Amino acid sequence: MEYSSVQQLRRKQQEVFIDLDVLNCPICYEPLAIPVFQCDMGHVACHVCWPKLKRKCPICALPIGNKRCKAMESVLRSFNVPCPNAHLGCTKSVPYGGDSDHEKKYCRFAICSCPEIVNECSYTGSLDDLLGHYITHHQLKEGCLFIFGMPRTVRMPINDKVFVITILRRILMFAVQCFREPSGVYVAVNCIAPLAPEVGKFSYRISYSSNGRICCSHKSLEMKRVLRVSSQTPQDDDCMFVPNRLLRGEVLEMELCISEVENMFVIRSCMGLNDV
Ligand SMILES: [Zn+2]
Ligand SMILES: [Zn+2]
Ligand SMILES: [Zn+2]
Ligand SMILES: [Zn+2]
Repeated sequence: MEYSSVQQLRRKQQEVFIDLDVLNCPICYEPLAIPVFQCDMGHVACHVCWPKLKRKCPICALPIGNKRCKAMESVLRSFNVPCPNAHLGCTKSVPYGGDSDHEKKYCRFAICSCPEIVNECSYTGSLDDLLGHYITHHQLKEGCLFIFGMPRTVRMPINDKVFVITILRRILMFAVQCFREPSGVYVAVNCIAPLAPEVGKFSYRISYSSNGRICCSHKSLEMKRVLRVSSQTPQDDDCMFVPNRLLRGEVLEMELCISEVENMFVIRSCMGLNDV
């Protein structure tokens, strides 16, 4: 390879230091995101400000039409900045001003809300911090400690609404939720975690017995992962329904088994592949 080509390759991967203010919209000061518009003089406007400008640049008063600032757009495309959850431990980078799906949904450190909705706890934090908070500030109920693949009984007063489950030696939280409706009680099980692949995937089966006979059951091959538990009755079929005629008082006694479907991250870690 010629010297100049080697230099070019090196230059492509160089770290640069930049004042991030130059990547902000000069009108609203928010990070620019594609598309970026420019006036006849070259002043830029973000796609949020642009429709409000009535085709007149607020800086120089020249027209600002549909002309895109392709140079700024390619600069934005090339810019990666640390994930906003870096202070919580995330080492990934995200496109500057790009869509923040990583930060809000897929980041291992995305912010989760405390499931203690009955007591209106407003705590939010990463999954690791949330589990620590829950153990310190709320009472873990009897029978909350599960082992993957082993069925356990969940005894839950319907009015408690949420029963939190943790897994032995894992930083994971699952919420069993009861939703009372005029015709009966819906029971849903969710994992409180971001969609990060490191968290893993889980399945579950739940059943309710009356007079020693299983009369209601539900099985999910992939349990939903949520950042906050909902207080709304699930609108899909991914839950168990116990009709009023089968209820025995105010406490639901159910058998629940949670399994780990796959955790490619753990498998890859064992094979030493994650650092490649
Ligand atoms: Zn703007
Ligand atoms: Zn201008
Ligand atoms: Zn992140
Ligand atoms: Zn809390």
